[in-house]
Amino acid sequence: MEDIRAKIEVRGIVQGVGYRPFIHKLVRRRGLNGWVKNTSRGVELELEGAPDALRDFAETLRHDHPPLAVVESVELTPLGPAQGEEGFAIIPSTTLSRRNTLISPDVAPCDDCLRELFDPNDRRYGYPFLNCTNCGPRFTIVKDVPYDRPYTTMSAFTMCPDCADEYGDIDNRRYHAQPNCCPDCGPQLRYCDEKGDEVGGEPLDAACACLRDGGIVAIKGLGGFHLACRCDDETVVQRLRERKHREEKPLAIMCRDAEAAKQFCILTEDEERVLTSFHRPIVLLKKKQPYTHLTNNGFLGVMLPYTPLHHLLMQHFDALVMTSANLSDIPICKDNDEALRALRGIADGYLLHNRDIETRCDDSLLWVYAGREYFARRSRGYVPYPVTVEPDPRPILACGAEQKASFCVSEGNYAFPSGHIGDLKNLETLENYTQQIRHFERLFDIHPAMLVCDDHPDYLSTRYARERAKEEHLALLSVQHHHAHMASCMADNRLEDECLGVIWDGTGLGTDGTIWGGEFFAGGYESIRRMGTIRPIPLIGGDKAVGEIWRIAYAMRRDCGLAQEGKPLMERMLARKLNCPVSTGMGRLFDGVCAMLGLRQEVSYEGQGAVLLEAAAVDGEEGTYPIAWSEGRVFDWRGTVRAVAQEQARGVETGVIAARFMNTLVEMAAQQCRWMHEATGFDRVVLSGGVFQNQYLLRRLPPRLMKEGLQVFCHSRVSCNDEGLSLGQLEIAKRGGGTNVFGSTPENH
Ligand code: ZN
Ligand code: ZN
Ligand code: FE
Repeated sequence: MEDIRAKIEVRGIVQGVGYRPFIHKLVRRRGLNGWVKNTSRGVELELEGAPDALRDFAETLRHDHPPLAVVESVELTPLGPAQGEEGFAIIPSTTLSRRNTLISPDVAPCDDCLRELFDPNDRRYGYPFLNCTNCGPRFTIVKDVPYDRPYTTMSAFTMCPDCADEYGDIDNRRYHAQPNCCPDCGPQLRYCDEKGDEVGGEPLDAACACLRDGGIVAIKGLGGFHLACRCDDETVVQRLRERKHREEKPLAIMCRDAEAAKQFCILTEDEERVLTSFHRPIVLLKKKQPYTHLTNNGFLGVMLPYTPLHHLLMQHFDALVMTSANLSDIPICKDNDEALRALRGIADGYLLHNRDIETRCDDSLLWVYAGREYFARRSRGYVPYPVTVEPDPRPILACGAEQKASFCVSEGNYAFPSGHIGDLKNLETLENYTQQIRHFERLFDIHPAMLVCDDHPDYLSTRYARERAKEEHLALLSVQHHHAHMASCMADNRLEDECLGVIWDGTGLGTDGTIWGGEFFAGGYESIRRMGTIRPIPLIGGDKAVGEIWRIAYAMRRDCGLAQEGKPLMERMLARKLNCPVSTGMGRLFDGVCAMLGLRQEVSYEGQGAVLLEAAAVDGEEGTYPIAWSEGRVFDWRGTVRAVAQEQARGVETGVIAARFMNTLVEMAAQQCRWMHEATGFDRVVLSGGVFQNQYLLRRLPPRLMKEGLQVFCHSRVSCNDEGLSLGQLEIAKRGGGTNVFGSTPENH
């Protein structure tokens, strides 16, 4: 066979991940000739060789790639007979536009780097900032694109001759590794005492000593600071909680390795795979002991070291508490000065370094469900990887909700969801939100022509969208909260056709002006029909009832005609409908039952009622309570709640009641879906909304729906809570759903 010339196009995330050197080596090994270059869609090669050899080469590219590359497609096009090209070249790309330069998330140290880190004969032995093309900081140090050292926070350091040699040598693992550095030329650690004064000696040793003595140390990480302390010392954990004003929220731990994690938790194979993946999220695992000082629910958040510094630190401990260094809901600290100021009185010491963090990025938080990531928070290690969506040339910004804020910018077939941002009601968080929007728009060169927001006029994200749309004369679209949840789960699963949706969360503005959250929908991106919901619950005192959940229990008991000590003020408010908005939020039903069962009368964060019920529920309980429906397929929970009260009075164990209550919700949803299926003929169901963070429901509802012959789709690429909602807003806007607030849509220009 004569040699031929062929073009090979590789699409996906193949830039800035060591892809061209990888190609170079592969081509050389196979004795092929030609060139490779970056294009706006990926990389393009022209090669000469035997037809079989070229086909085989293309086949190899389909499954073999550098660790950080994501190959979406490989296409081979024969161009004709060989022209006798000799050798192989990496040629510069001329037409590359900024937006197609995808940026990698931050990546945990690779095995090669770890070997060097612990090899006394290596020049980077014990150096906490080593990295290579296959690992290291990325997103958090990038200031601008292209991804080149001058546009990162590593620009402050000049490579020494040794490092520069590695950087320029195509056979070296550090070829074009932008953050490449060594102890001679790179960032350095330093340690400060509680007053912020630098302490001499080995910084890491000083930090370890402080931790060992029961101190709290602020440690500068990848996307921000952590506060660390021993996890086996309840006194110091308590002190940390008090100082940080985090009395109740669970604290995550960092374990030395998967083996150390097994001392604390039960790990499945899938969980171990995700835990040890280069993304290094916090994985919520079933704990072996109560560890009530760390968390009062059934799961313990565990992560493994994800920087060389962590690896060095964790040589001295099996596990440490590691929690984001911030006060309550304010964004995580990222700069040295900021940390020294904000953490005064909280930290007993500071392990600092002089590599700046450009963009804050919190740890990702997830469960492993059905073998895949199930996000509570999609952030460090995943951001800014795009989510592939249906192609659309219009640049769009979706602004998300408010409490678990997020945004999503999109153009073409990529959507870029932001990382964890938090509650916009804090001024600092709002500022972080607007800064990150601008950062994403610059990095991906997306200039939105259309903005999308929630229907809720008072969400700060909505106000941002309104103001910006007005100022920049952009089209603005508004989307109902739960419609966005449903669309988010559809887009997460690449569903196009209309389907059914079980959308359960705490709150969101409905189209009738009341608060929704226990919703059953049929429809798609363009529009939905509300097929059913739950009996509205009066929130005595409005927002106050979200924290003081005994108010919800009071209103529910009253609605059920259950005896209770009357509260005249409550009665007056209910009778006059004074500050008593009604809600169909499933989260509120959980809150009410939680308070009735005496688990808690007040909660410190939204959704805690559901968390406590889940934690209380015993395993293996199959019982259910009565289910009734009223006009319009509205779940009348009064029969269920009366049964809860009766069993409680009879002295049935709280954990059994909690389980039976949730079993009832599963059964209720199954009945509703069966009915919706009959009414519409749709046999696919998406599950979305913050309530589906409840693992008890998540593990029981899908199999139950499958028994009804339905196909069930859950989230895996974005979160089911409000953080994942911006993706849904975006997809609705692309397909002409939502309500036009003002401005013409881009097509009409
Ligand atoms: Zn490496
Ligand atoms: Zn160097
Ligand atoms: Fe929601």
